Amino acid sequence: MNQHSLYQEVRSHLAYLRLGAIAEALPQELERAQKEKLSPTAFLHALLSTEVRTTEERRLAGRLRFASLPAPWRLEDFDFDAQPSLDRKLVEDLASLRFIHEAANVLLVGPPGVGKTMLAVCLARRAAEAGYRVYFTTAADLAARCHKAAIEGRWATTMRFYAGPQLLVIDELGYLPLASEAAASLFQVVTQRALKGSIVLTTNRGIGPAWAEIFQDPMVAAAMLDRLLHRAAVLQIEGDSYRMRAHRARIEAMRQSLVTRTPDVFRTDASGVGKEAAAPTS
Ligand code: ADP
Ligand code: MG
Repeated sequence: MNQHSLYQEVRSHLAYLRLGAIAEALPQELERAQKEKLSPTAFLHALLSTEVRTTEERRLAGRLRFASLPAPWRLEDFDFDAQPSLDRKLVEDLASLRFIHEAANVLLVGPPGVGKTMLAVCLARRAAEAGYRVYFTTAADLAARCHKAAIEGRWATTMRFYAGPQLLVIDELGYLPLASEAAASLFQVVTQRALKGSIVLTTNRGIGPAWAEIFQDPMVAAAMLDRLLHRAAVLQIEGDSYRMRAHRARIEAMRQSLVTRTPDVFRTDASGVGKEAAAPTS
């Protein structure tokens, strides 16, 4: 077989095996191998590395798509100084993802706006990047989906779906009380995952009697907590809402700019006043 038909056959093999990244890199890699007198092993290594990199990127993109994270938050963007009540060491330990390996749970507890969802998303993203299957949902969505599944005769499939991911984030438990059917769905999801897969759960209700109100039944609440806490880290976040803090900072900045620009306020050109006052907030 001459060089040309050999090359053509290599290309058709690559297409058959769907090694697209190698196919694309082949011409320049062949040229480089010749120029730099690469050993066959080094040449093969360069080609395969290209394919591995592309495959990893594609799989990560797929995992992130499946994960349905509501925002692109990363732990690097989390402002720990703004949340002194938070156990930073524990967060960093969780970020090592050992808890997923151990199928342990994480409960993020605190009032609205303190960063519970953000932390849950950051951990979920880390996990997806590390190769874990992750899925993000809210307690309300989970309940609604289970309800629909029950009606449509897809209960078992839906339960399998929630058992699948190595990390399941259940956001916003407790904002609305759960009807008994919803509580039962959540209970089953939590039970079937116990010791098999991790749950990161966020709630605005302190762990304890307040949970009886969420589930409208102290027995269900106790059983749920028992399952969740069997192997779990609890992160309590106190303090001000970060959202409100940012809001207050904006108002304060606006006030400051108005004070320093007082003369403008008294200008007779009213349209100019509006522009001057509005500028710093944009
Ligand atoms: P929660 O789920 O506790 O109600 P969120 O996680 O939704 O709060 O946070 C509210 C908003 O404030 C989000 O935009 C989030 O990114 C931001 N935020 C909260 N805490 C922090 C923090 N410590 N560092 C940076 N941003 C934060
Ligand atoms: Mg939230």
